[in-house]
Parts: sequence; structure tokens; C-alpha cells
Amino acid sequence: ALTAGIVGLPNVGKSTLFNAITKSQVEAANYPFATIEPNVGVVEVPDYRVDRLVEIVVPKKTIYTTFEFTDIAGLVKGASKGEGLGNQFLSNIRLTDAICHVVRCFEDNDVTHVEGSVDPIRDIEIINLELILADLQTIENRLSKVERKAKAKDAEGIAEKAVLEKVKAALEAEKPARSVELNKEESAVVKGFQLLTLKPMIYVANIGEDEINNPDKNEHYCKVKELAASENNDVVSISAKIEEELSVLDKEEKEMFLAELGIEESGLDKVIRASYHMLDLCTYFTAGEVEVRAWTFRKGMTAPQCAGIIHTDFQRGFIRAETISFEDMDTYGSEQAAKDAGKLRSEGKEYIVQDGDIMHFRFNV
Ligand code: GDP
Repeated sequence: ALTAGIVGLPNVGKSTLFNAITKSQVEAANYPFATIEPNVGVVEVPDYRVDRLVEIVVPKKTIYTTFEFTDIAGLVKGASKGEGLGNQFLSNIRLTDAICHVVRCFEDNDVTHVEGSVDPIRDIEIINLELILADLQTIENRLSKVERKAKAKDAEGIAEKAVLEKVKAALEAEKPARSVELNKEESAVVKGFQLLTLKPMIYVANIGEDEINNPDKNEHYCKVKELAASENNDVVSISAKIEEELSVLDKEEKEMFLAELGIEESGLDKVIRASYHMLDLCTYFTAGEVEVRAWTFRKGMTAPQCAGIIHTDFQRGFIRAETISFEDMDTYGSEQAAKDAGKLRSEGKEYIVQDGDIMHFRFNV
């Protein structure tokens, strides 16, 4: 399963957010495949399309797709030099696919700030610098090995050295590896090193409870938004405190509370959707009377590959897929009506599955 690591300086609200995540966690009985560890929270990805399909099909069971968050504690200034839980922190974060970077934007004199004042831009720079320094170490270690190969006129070694130096130059200029433009071959070389600053990242701005229906009132948040835009990163505003309160409510109570607060969506749901989005993840559906279910796939996957997500047999024996887009299903209101309107497509092995496709796989066993 794909997972985003939650990072940030101490006392910015990470644990509060992570508690909200674990309390909102899926029921293990519904997701027997999910291994739930203490520092991992598995949440459902909210999707109005699932709700609409349930309305149309009225299945016995509904299964949303899931996303994992890993709590990465211990990132402090100097972590890349092994301070605090430095090394452990770095190996935990290496295993994640994306980074949720929590920054403190709320003012509260009762909550001490490790750097003495609320200044999210400074905080972001501290964390990002640690990540950059850790990557720089990785690159330098690798370079020392590859240099010998390059000297021996080994073609692969020469190519790798060139890429490493390109990334190193960016890191030395305090820019993340993701800011370096790499072609396909170069990307393939870099991929193996599990660089932290190559992972996609979003900022999660933790703002005050009284600000969530108008985050732009918070000047810290506005600065984070500006910075994020300049880096091409997404930013989501939440109040970790409110998320904690929301996480113990049932669906109806939650909706009432959100209405009271004057917001449509919880911050956690925004974080989940933004995380899903930053990994370029898409969703296809299977919809029958037994079960309506959402499945996660990566943009660009073919129909047989998508079938393989359900079961490898489906991929091996793949014949074709019968497909209706969610939009058509929504418009026509039933599978039969969509069919009658000629909206059911028969797709073969080369078909690139589209976000929102409702799939019915035909396969040989
Ligand atoms: P962590 O060290 O980043 O995990 O931070 P915590 O989640 O433990 O939060 C540190 C302190 O800040 C705790 O006392 C929280 O109750 C408080 N806190 C977290 N989020 C908010 C918030 O949105 N508003 C206020 N006022 N306090 C918060």
C-alpha cells in the first residue's frame, strides 16, 4: 500500500493529527489485507463517486480505497547528522512514498515552539534542509563508489556519475532533488537511491480553530501558500485540534459539526485527497449487487494491469474489460440504461484505464 509520512518540527501538531487519523482508521475486519502497525494509520479515501454508485447499485457491501499515513517522529535540527532520533527518522521516511509536511501556523502561548516563535517559513526551511543534507550524504557516498567505475571508462559508471553530479549541484544550492529536470534514463538511475527530497510533498498548515472557515485570515498560512506555489507544492489548511474532535464522531454528528463550523470537508479528508493526488493515483470501480468497491491504480496502467490489482489470475487470463465511465453511469442512472445508450465499451489489452472507469473484467481461468 502507498503511504505518506507525516513530518514536521516538534510541537507543531503532528501527533494530534496522527491521533485523528488513527481514530478515523478503517475497521480491520473490512480490510483484512491492511497490516496496521502502531505508527501507521490506514484511512478510507473519501470519494463521492463511491457514494453515488452505492445509491445506484445498492450493494450489500461498500469498500472505499485506502491510504496509509506513517507517523515519523523525531525530526529536529541536526537530524541528518544523527541528532535526536536522526538516523531512525531518516530510515523511516525513506520507506514512504510521499511526505506530508506539517507546519505550525496557530498562535497559542501555552504551546511552546522549539524555535521560540511561530514562523512557518523558517520551520519549513529547517526541515527541508535536513532532508537535503541527508540526500547529499546519500549522493556523496554513491559518488565515491561510482567515481572509480567512471575512471575505468565504464559507460554505466560515467552516466551515473553525471546524473549524481547534476542532483548534487541542486542539493548544494539547497534545492530538493525533485526540482531537477531528469530524462527517463536519469530518473531510472536516481530512483534507486530513495532520495527523500525526490518524494512528492505537500504542506499541511495547522491553523487556529477559529480560523478554519477563513484560513486566509491567518498571515502565516498565506506565507506558506505563497512558498508552496513557488515550489509547485500543494498546501492544505487544517486545525489538528478540530480534527481530533471530529475523529470520535459518527458520520451524522460529523456532518452537523462541519456545518456548524461552516466548512464542507474535514481537514483530514482534504489531506487524504491531496496525498492521493500528489502520488498521481487514480481510482477505478467495480460495482455489483454484492459489492461496490474502489481500487487504486497509477495513472497510465493498462486494463490487464488494473485487473491484476484484484487478482493476478485476472491479469494472466485477461480477455477484455467491459467499461462504463462514472460520468455515464451517473447520467443514465443504471448500468442497463447506460448500456442502452451505447455507453458500455469493450476494451482490450492495450486500454489505458481512466480515472473513474467502472470495470468488469472478463478472463480465462
Ligand atoms: P507534535 O510534537 O508535532 O506531534 O505536536 P503535538 O500534536 O503533540 O502538539 C503539540 C501541542 O500543541 C499539544 O499540546 C497540542 O494540544 C497543541 N496543538 C496541536 N494542534 C493545535 C492547534 O491547532 N491549536 C492549538 N491551540 N494547539 C494545538
